[in-house]
Amino acid sequence: MPEQDKDKDKDKEKDKDKKKPVRWLNPASGYLTGYAYTLNPYVGCTFGCSYCYVRRMPIALFKASPWGEWVEPKRFEADSFRREWRRAIAKGGVTVFMSSATDPYQPAEHQEKLTRRLLEVMAEEPPQFLLLQTRSPLVLRDIDVLSRLGERVRVSMTVETDLETVRKALTPFAPPLAGRLRAIRELRQAGIQVQAAVSPLLPCSEAFPELIASSVERVVVDDFFRGDGSGGKRSAQLKMADRYRELGEEARYTPETADAFVQALKAVMPSESVYFGQEGFLP
Ligand code: SF4
Repeated sequence: MPEQDKDKDKDKEKDKDKKKPVRWLNPASGYLTGYAYTLNPYVGCTFGCSYCYVRRMPIALFKASPWGEWVEPKRFEADSFRREWRRAIAKGGVTVFMSSATDPYQPAEHQEKLTRRLLEVMAEEPPQFLLLQTRSPLVLRDIDVLSRLGERVRVSMTVETDLETVRKALTPFAPPLAGRLRAIRELRQAGIQVQAAVSPLLPCSEAFPELIASSVERVVVDDFFRGDGSGGKRSAQLKMADRYRELGEEARYTPETADAFVQALKAVMPSESVYFGQEGFLP
């Protein structure tokens, strides 16, 4: 049996006990209005960021285990997704945000290759636009497929701070910052469109704007007050002000901190490359 067919059989075996989604492409809404669809390959996310707004959504609130401690890969069937994808493409205007409630390159993706398998089908008939939102260097594994999507894909790599101490305090299970910056470099070298998502901005050093300017041609900044999809309510429920206080950073827990950061970025890179909030995530 050819190697490719053996891989397909292994994938089928791996997926047989998983739940098949009713549909992969879900109509986008709220903060992601501007996209036609969102696509979440997984339910749950083991990066478990302390500020993740999904923690306040029913999917996390009604689960027995805490957010960050579980992940459920969806059951992928290439033919079924291909049919759904082609139907959407035939209608036109396919813009996809991947992903709104999980990270498509979280640790489970090493084994599952679910994101990769979805991308492979998308590459057969590319969408109008696909945004891949991640904080994982694992995205580098899929440079070959991303290249096939060409100008139609942008990787948005979260880099919320340049301080590992802050990253370890607030998102200890997310990939180290150096790996994310390396991923940005390698994606750009491969000709893949990429932006840095300083979202949400966390306490950082004075050198952070320069680091961003030297790493990317496009950046989007967001904060806990305007970027949590609820005008700051979810961030308050997640007690982010207390987390800042524990770090001795309470003075920075203000919307003005992000405004000043945007100005600092505009001083070191073209202002049209610096976005704030929702507009920076749009197609
Ligand atoms: S990576 Fe994204 S989805 Fe996952 S826990 Fe962090 S913020 Fe939430």
